Amino acid sequence: MIKILDKQTASKIAAGEVIERPSGVLKELLENSLDAGATVVNIDIDGAGKKLIRVNDNGRGISAKDMPLALLRHSTSKINNFEDLNNLSTFGFRGEALFSIAAVSEISISSSARGQKAGLKIMATGGADAVTMPAPAITGTTVEVRNLFFNTPARLKFLKSDSVERGHLLRCCEEAALASPQAAFNVKADGIPVYNLPAAEDDEAGLRRRLSKIFGTEAAKNLIYISDEKFNFKAFISPVDKLTSARERQYYFVNKRPVGSKILQQAVYKAYQQYRAKDRYPTVVIFMQMPPDNFDVNIHPQKRDIKFIDEGAIFSFIYKKITAAVLGGAEVQKISFNTHAAPPRPAEQSAQPAADNSNLFNTFRPQTTFEVKDFEEPKPYEVPAPVYEDTSAQPSAPSTEDEENAPAWWRGPYKFLGQIHQSYIVMESPLGLILVDQHAAQERVLFEEYMAALNAREVKTQPMMFPVNVDLPASDIEKILSWSSFLAKSGFEVVRFSARTILVNAVPAMLKISDVALKDLVCQLAEVLGDPNKASDQLKHKLIATMACKKAIKAGEKLEEKQAQALMENLKKCQDGLHCPHGRPTLIEINTKDLSKKFGRTS
Ligand code: ADP
Ligand code: MG
Repeated sequence: MIKILDKQTASKIAAGEVIERPSGVLKELLENSLDAGATVVNIDIDGAGKKLIRVNDNGRGISAKDMPLALLRHSTSKINNFEDLNNLSTFGFRGEALFSIAAVSEISISSSARGQKAGLKIMATGGADAVTMPAPAITGTTVEVRNLFFNTPARLKFLKSDSVERGHLLRCCEEAALASPQAAFNVKADGIPVYNLPAAEDDEAGLRRRLSKIFGTEAAKNLIYISDEKFNFKAFISPVDKLTSARERQYYFVNKRPVGSKILQQAVYKAYQQYRAKDRYPTVVIFMQMPPDNFDVNIHPQKRDIKFIDEGAIFSFIYKKITAAVLGGAEVQKISFNTHAAPPRPAEQSAQPAADNSNLFNTFRPQTTFEVKDFEEPKPYEVPAPVYEDTSAQPSAPSTEDEENAPAWWRGPYKFLGQIHQSYIVMESPLGLILVDQHAAQERVLFEEYMAALNAREVKTQPMMFPVNVDLPASDIEKILSWSSFLAKSGFEVVRFSARTILVNAVPAMLKISDVALKDLVCQLAEVLGDPNKASDQLKHKLIATMACKKAIKAGEKLEEKQAQALMENLKKCQDGLHCPHGRPTLIEINTKDLSKKFGRTS
């Protein structure tokens, strides 16, 4: 039986399209304030936005006459007809936001238009029974949204932990603040000041000041500024030697609207492609302006994704601009040896591919070739399955009791022959030759030692003589702190120092690393860690792998024979000595039989 949904059900469903989570509310309210020409925006977030989201602005306000219309569906002052969509100069246009928010919360809007003798306040619960009352004649608008999703329990249940939701809310503030430097932003979460951003010029200096308040002074200072008259293009980008483990630090703005765009993202990653290891990401903030009919924002209910009319032109413009800028700094990367880079291929391989596919140097493909598709949905925390073409050269790990049947690699004595590029250890074994990736091997050893200690609850914590402070965007701080109890179990003591700074007071004794590496690790945590309540063992595995990676000797370090021998012995003690915790091989074995074959001594 077909029936027409009642008004309230229909509006709740409609609201779900626009408002997925608290940050969706905040985004709409901020857009409205900026559309109203506000130069000061005050934001309060309580209880991760579930209790209260309040946005107060000094914009042009809503007149008493318009006020009763504000909560109605399709009520907008921004467009008159469909054609206007092609000439949009505002964020809002659909008149859906306030209506949708009101449907799933207790809303109050208090506003006074410029020159009005008195203001008006309107209050409603679940979009029904609106009441109006007088309000002070202060030009501007305050919207308060309380008890969000009180009448849509499924939606409420779908929300992530408070820290995660707060992270989304703060990211939303960060984007608005970057997009609109002309406005001052004050952000408080549960009454505690998080951001206090004075208005700034929309030029390099002004934007850089804002960036330094958000990313931290040091990080902002490193960014290269580039610009072009075309598209009124302005961008701040990482030099190639300053890529970080922060995966989500790319911000794109088109006509001041924070947008997601596959094309922009792909162009950026393609430009960095050859300078970037799998786990390093550029910080990129790009601003562009273009006539509103050059792109479509209407393809996404949250107005987030945009589609450019001429995607090819945009791609090549961004790709070229960034390539030109990063090329200047390319030298640096060549010197700093890249741990995860592909081993140099022997020259003979390309000249004469082995007919039987037994090229021993080609037994694994390190995950270092980046295709554009890799960047559409970056998922660096999946353990990449090692790909072997020829299993004969990939020895299997023996169980310790099974020493008798242990494969050749496992049985010494090993004779240390040296290192290749200070990255690979070369050993002679009774049956042939062994090549060890020193970084991967030590990563494995540390990983298993640490895992064993963690499982036995024996991770020793070592207080830092000088606590290390790490500046991060407030949204990242929340993510990390949401993990503090797991981190405590893991031997870390991580506390909030301020809304923008985390203090590391203690680290696991066995993972004592340099301050620089520690800062890098903490930055990376924000990216690795999702919602602690939903974290899988695999994620914890990744976290510990990250720690092990930071501690392990790097490629490019000289090793003495003693160290190499010790590493080999430790590797043998591992449950899976043949793979680093990320799944890459630690060791390649080339026995003399293979060598004979290579050299044509078939007899
Ligand atoms: P839209 O932004 O798509 O027009 P909204 O539901 O977000 O729709 O808002 C409806 C109308 O309410 C807007 O068109 C605008 O006229 C008015 N309005 C909302 N918020 C504000 C504000 N902070 N200042 C001034 N006017 C506002
Ligand atoms: Mg709006």
